[in-house]
Amino acid sequence: MDQILYVVIPCYNEEEVLPETAKRMKEKMNALIECKKILPQSRIVFVNDGSKDKTWEMISALHQEDKLYSGINLSRNRGHQNALLSGLMTAKDYADMVISMDADLQDDINAIDAMVDKYLAGCDIVYGVRSKRTTDTFFKRFTAEAFYRLMNSLGANTVFNHADYRLMSKRALEGLAEFKEVNLFLRGIVPMIGYPSDIVTYERSERFAGESKYPLKKMLAFAMEGITSLSTKPIRLITGLGFTVFMVSIIMLIYALVSFFSGHTVAGWSSVMISIWAIGGLLLLSIGVIGEYIGKIYLESKARPRFIIKEFLNNDDKEQ
Ligand code: UDP
Ligand code: MG
Repeated sequence: MDQILYVVIPCYNEEEVLPETAKRMKEKMNALIECKKILPQSRIVFVNDGSKDKTWEMISALHQEDKLYSGINLSRNRGHQNALLSGLMTAKDYADMVISMDADLQDDINAIDAMVDKYLAGCDIVYGVRSKRTTDTFFKRFTAEAFYRLMNSLGANTVFNHADYRLMSKRALEGLAEFKEVNLFLRGIVPMIGYPSDIVTYERSERFAGESKYPLKKMLAFAMEGITSLSTKPIRLITGLGFTVFMVSIIMLIYALVSFFSGHTVAGWSSVMISIWAIGGLLLLSIGVIGEYIGKIYLESKARPRFIIKEFLNNDDKEQ
């Protein structure tokens, strides 16, 4: 079995963590090469997602210094998912297996050994699953877990407590390349690829340095993206809601008629006001959700490129 491993690491303003990540990853890769689990042509690919700091300069310097390091420079900031995809799609042409991980060392790099072992045992996709979330703030843990449960109940099947730390084989990546969607939510798409898969558990630690590049606003947008790009259940919910409201209105009609014929014609101002508000609210909510999907159709129909690579520094020396 061929054993070239590429590790793809998206980086956005990561100058504070990059030197440490590069150092620790180099040790890990060398150890794996030493025990013959991976070939010496394996690479660490840093994807610069339009950083505003010195990230790209640091990546180029690393590449100069050691051919173990490769770099992809995107034309501008496209967000974590697109940066990751650009790395995966580039690496699949050189590697037999590709691992994706974050730059901030929150993903325990010692899980790589177990991932590679599972790949060698025949798995195409190995999901890194965090065993507990004790290092996250209560707020992050609560919102993230609620998000997974909501996603699953809405019919978007994701692997519980798995983010984007995973290993994928070449053929799994070729499968991924067939998914052309612009609204990208990788952790929802990957399980749809199929092939034998397994999980490896690890403990997620705190960010090594710097600040999270996922503030609450981005996190909410990401959650919305996940739900609307994977499932159409919200639309069905609206239909159900509309039906229920319609049934209630029939009951109200009967009630109104009965009141009318029995002489109690004093109209209840409050109940009228409440119904106007309730129906108005429901309509607005429904239009909003439908609008979400129309927005998606609009974006998909444009079929815009998901990323544009400005430079690719790589030394795929087959002789080495
Ligand atoms: N990231 C990126 N582009 C962005 C935002 C983030 O490539 O626009 C990268 C970031 O450099 C890191 C990973 O995505 O490697 C995860 O981001 P972060 O650690 O800030 O998220 P958190 O762990 O707080 O959810
Ligand atoms: Mg992080």
